[in-house]
Amino acid sequence: MTTNASLAARRAAAVPIGVGSATAVYAAHAENGELWDVEGRRYVDFAGGIAVLNVGHRHPRVLAAVRDQLDHYTHTAFQVVPYEPYVALAERLNALAPIPGPVKTIFFTTGAEATENAVKIARAATGRPAVIAFAGAFHGRTMLASAMTGKVAPYKRAFGPFPGEVHHIPFPTDSNGYTMQDSLRALHMLFAATVEASRVAAIIIEPIQGEGGFHVAPPALLRALRDVCNTHGIMLIADEVQTGFARTGRMFGIEHSGVAPDLIAVAKSLGGGFPLSGVIGRAAVMDSIPTGGLGGTYAGSPLACAAALTVLDVIADEGLIARAEAIGAAIRTRVAGFADRNDLVPVVALRGEGAMIGFDIVADRAGREPDGAEAKRVCARALDAGLILLTCGTHGETIRILVPLTVSDAILTEGMDALERALVRPGTA
Ligand code: PMP
Repeated sequence: MTTNASLAARRAAAVPIGVGSATAVYAAHAENGELWDVEGRRYVDFAGGIAVLNVGHRHPRVLAAVRDQLDHYTHTAFQVVPYEPYVALAERLNALAPIPGPVKTIFFTTGAEATENAVKIARAATGRPAVIAFAGAFHGRTMLASAMTGKVAPYKRAFGPFPGEVHHIPFPTDSNGYTMQDSLRALHMLFAATVEASRVAAIIIEPIQGEGGFHVAPPALLRALRDVCNTHGIMLIADEVQTGFARTGRMFGIEHSGVAPDLIAVAKSLGGGFPLSGVIGRAAVMDSIPTGGLGGTYAGSPLACAAALTVLDVIADEGLIARAEAIGAAIRTRVAGFADRNDLVPVVALRGEGAMIGFDIVADRAGREPDGAEAKRVCARALDAGLILLTCGTHGETIRILVPLTVSDAILTEGMDALERALVRPGTA
């Protein structure tokens, strides 16, 4: 019989250790907010394949659309024989994007490709080289994306040299002590000391840092960055790879601030489980690269475009933007109730927007020393209790919840009950 242990042994011999897994269970089957492993054990899934499954595992309408597409063609390469699902999806996203005026969209496959291509477009549109990103950011693992990612270990160590002209400034969070004013001062110092503003092509920011710890970018910071970009002709890129498609209680996370970016990188939940990413942007900016300058063999796969068109239908028809708010409110109420319990490990700094909720595990409530090791143990105990749960954050101290927005109240409650059991301090149960 195939067991988790037998697969782990085969994996150890066949797969390099560089790719890690948050759990040691191997998937057999999944449905909406639930997953079964190869030993038949059932789990509630609060990870959603790292923010990919806002419409849940195997949404029946998404599967039907992909099956229909399978019966027509699976791949022609948009650069060879184009197809309607790509064009139709671009039309849908252009209409949804919080960008005024004419908008165009191009598709790729991964989030890293989306952030890299957003920079290529910004560089071509401005004729400038430099890019400014934030400490703690995650923009992907390819070379330029790694350069923009603001965390050395484990993402950058040993991989350089990276593409040049990428600079970082602090991202303000309650835990790191930087304020929004500090971030803006650092930006102006960068302009004065390192790269003049007129050489900067783009500023890239996640409306809520994902891997960095579910830290919400202050709306006033986003507005200030918009002003800086307007003043100096810099492109503002919103990396919505993790925040997009209803997760935060808006279609795009940046909508909470009212700021219109020039370019938006999207991926993850757009494809509903099929690999798809894209760059949405102001048409004049998007058209600054001559024909042939952008693309990719699999970019905008017809199967993934068919899935994504249905994902957008499901978000609208099932009211998932409002549902994200309701799920988030329910999670917040439960987590707030954990915060002053002495039988649980210390839980602080509940934060997020909509159903993108995180909180920190700390050594003690007063000192707030991040305790990534304990957060990891919480995830291990959660798995034992039947819940797939992820961490994030600088020290791995943040527990993040990315439950499908299609989840039932019963499954959500079951998952939160398992989380509560996982938070019990060892020895106090
Ligand atoms: N940007 C953000 C904000 C992300 O969260 C991620 C993935 N965690 C990426 C980019 C990279 O996406 P991918 O892994 O699909 O390349």
